[in-house]
Amino acid sequence: MALHNTQNLPPVQYVTNDTLHQLFDAIDSISVQGYDEQRRVIYWNKGSEILYGFTCQEAMDKKLEDLIIPAPMQEPVIKAHSDWVNLGIEIPAAELTLTHKDGSDVAVFSSHVMLTNEYNTKQMYCIDIDLSEVHKAQAEATFNATMLQTLFEAIPDLFFVLEHDGTITDYHASDKNDLYVSPAQFIGKKMAEVLPEKVAQMFDLHIEKAITLGDMVSFEYDLSMPDGIYYYEARVRLLPKTNQIMMIIRDITQPHRSAELIRRQAHFDHLTALPNRFLSLDRLSQLLGAIQKKHEKAAVLFLDLDDFKKVNDSLGHEVGDKILIETAHRLQQTLKQNDTVGRLGGDEFIVLIPNLKNDNDALAIAERLLNAFRKPFKIEGRELILTLSIGIAISPKDGTTASMLLRNSDTAMYQAKAQGRNTFSFFTAQMNATMQRRFEIEVHMRSALKKNELEVYYQPQINVKTNKIIGAEALLRWHNEKLGTITPEEFIPIAEQTGLIIPMGMFVIEQALKFLNEWQAMNKQNYTMAVNLSPCQFRDPELVNTIMHALHKYEVKNEHLELEITEGVLMNGQDSIRDALTKIDELGIKLSMDDFGTGYSSLSYLRQYSFDVLKIDRSFISAITDDKADFNLVKAAIAMSHSLEIKVVAEGVETKEQLDLLNTLECDIAQGFYLSRPLQASQMLTFSLT
Ligand code: C2E
Ligand code: MG
Ligand code: MG
Repeated sequence: MALHNTQNLPPVQYVTNDTLHQLFDAIDSISVQGYDEQRRVIYWNKGSEILYGFTCQEAMDKKLEDLIIPAPMQEPVIKAHSDWVNLGIEIPAAELTLTHKDGSDVAVFSSHVMLTNEYNTKQMYCIDIDLSEVHKAQAEATFNATMLQTLFEAIPDLFFVLEHDGTITDYHASDKNDLYVSPAQFIGKKMAEVLPEKVAQMFDLHIEKAITLGDMVSFEYDLSMPDGIYYYEARVRLLPKTNQIMMIIRDITQPHRSAELIRRQAHFDHLTALPNRFLSLDRLSQLLGAIQKKHEKAAVLFLDLDDFKKVNDSLGHEVGDKILIETAHRLQQTLKQNDTVGRLGGDEFIVLIPNLKNDNDALAIAERLLNAFRKPFKIEGRELILTLSIGIAISPKDGTTASMLLRNSDTAMYQAKAQGRNTFSFFTAQMNATMQRRFEIEVHMRSALKKNELEVYYQPQINVKTNKIIGAEALLRWHNEKLGTITPEEFIPIAEQTGLIIPMGMFVIEQALKFLNEWQAMNKQNYTMAVNLSPCQFRDPELVNTIMHALHKYEVKNEHLELEITEGVLMNGQDSIRDALTKIDELGIKLSMDDFGTGYSSLSYLRQYSFDVLKIDRSFISAITDDKADFNLVKAAIAMSHSLEIKVVAEGVETKEQLDLLNTLECDIAQGFYLSRPLQASQMLTFSLT
């Protein structure tokens, strides 16, 4: 140890109490320093070296104030020390901030003792405990407390601290208005004393669970408030190492209501508030599950409003909507509580009848439903009569799955429509075969054009008087690898329903005009070509343009093309059809009324539109030789047509007698198997009457 004396001071006297030093030397977590009356270091243990950074060697003989006392404290320290030495005024233990060798602060709890040694000089011992860890912990605690406080204020959740038995001891709420009752009413109370019994029970149950699991448990509950039901989510957790339980309550009313709204929108039809397609089919599946176990029967009724589209188009969607709402209402009124009514979409509804005793029950219900529509709908001052078509499928006989029953009841509904509407029809296996066939035709028809499966045949037409060919009618043929030859009677209606008739119709026009050009050139004749047009083809706004384009392309004169339409086209009464027909007339293209006699045969159409040709349906021609009435009708039709300067074609002439009779009636043109069956283009080119 350094023993030299720097200033003119009495020599340093070291402590001789070696046992004490030995003790202090052994403790390095506490700093012990000894100072003589001149505050020179006489003892500096390892703990001091660690705490203040000065080695024992460095510290020895240095003055207290030069070592670890910060400048502003130096004077008071010197005074306090001298007061103690001279006047016996003790320096109390205190928390101090002293200085490290490197100049940094050292927070300590400093206690002091004054000893008198054997030379009767005073020695002060300072025992300093490092407070930096304590301060750090305190700072951390303060930080945590403020952070928690900030969190409590920022989060809208309610926080409660509870005893194991559920007694509420503390709470935090950013908004006191969120509390169910005021704090005074719940602090020190149990949940059961504050909340409704059922909810309190849930709390107790989950507190118990949280204690046994030692984990977070959560549950949802609702409370009835003056302005409605509110929904909450509670999380409960035992605070580790305490006996306290933390409960966090979150108001989930908003998300709950949104979810409910979404659920409603996903499951219910917004217009009629009936179960939508999704929910209806789900209920059907559930019903099927239930009846299967009990070996019961159930009925599915597929309902479709008759001619709803027409009402909607002519009276507007608002009226349409009101009709649908009223329909939903009438259906619900007619059915029993246990029956389900759903809206599948558009004007289609579904009715589910559980535990059906026998099929007649379904029949009775269908009749009741039809009856419910006898009374007119009163909408916006109008009285409208609407009817229903109903298809009935019965489980398990007609299906055991929702999709099968839906499909089969739908098929039966189509049958009811076909039977004239405002009626019902039970599903039969035969219908299924028909639908299956229809479906197959539709599927294959989609690729028929691309696969070159379509071909146009030509049936010659002759001048009855001269027996000379004057032209032909183009008739479409379809041969499919799998389905074989499908008749136009079968595929044309399907093509019309699917809209495929538009490209198919164009194909016929193209082919027919191309052929006509060749045919005319080959025989140097002004043959005409009759092409059938479906009502739906008039929906194509490009119809007239495409026809004109084809005429031009194949250099066919407009007057050599004859378009055959049926009354169905005219009955729509749409302006677009009227415009197209006028244009066709203006262009000099001929117009022919096909199948005359089968529809309404309204003669007024013949005057309204400028028809050039009338084709008497073959059902009349086949009977003219035997049936007086048919003979008279044909005779009258010819006479009337001639008076309007319309030429008459007799369709389906199968015998010489028929042809002769038509000649005497002055029918202009004849077409039929007696003269020739429809022929392929190559055969037609070389065909001649012998
Ligand atoms: P339609 O326009 O009345 O055509 C006449 C139908 O009578 C043709 O039947 C023809 O083969 C048949 N036929 C002709 N002469 C006789 C006869 O002496 N006896 C009998 N029993 N039948 C005869 P097809 O070709 O089967 O066509 C049926 C219907 O399909 C056509 O009736 C027409 O409405 C429609 N159709 C045919 N091709 C087309 C087309 O390209 N477009 C449109 N939209 N419809 C077409
Ligand atoms: Mg025709
Ligand atoms: Mg015809």
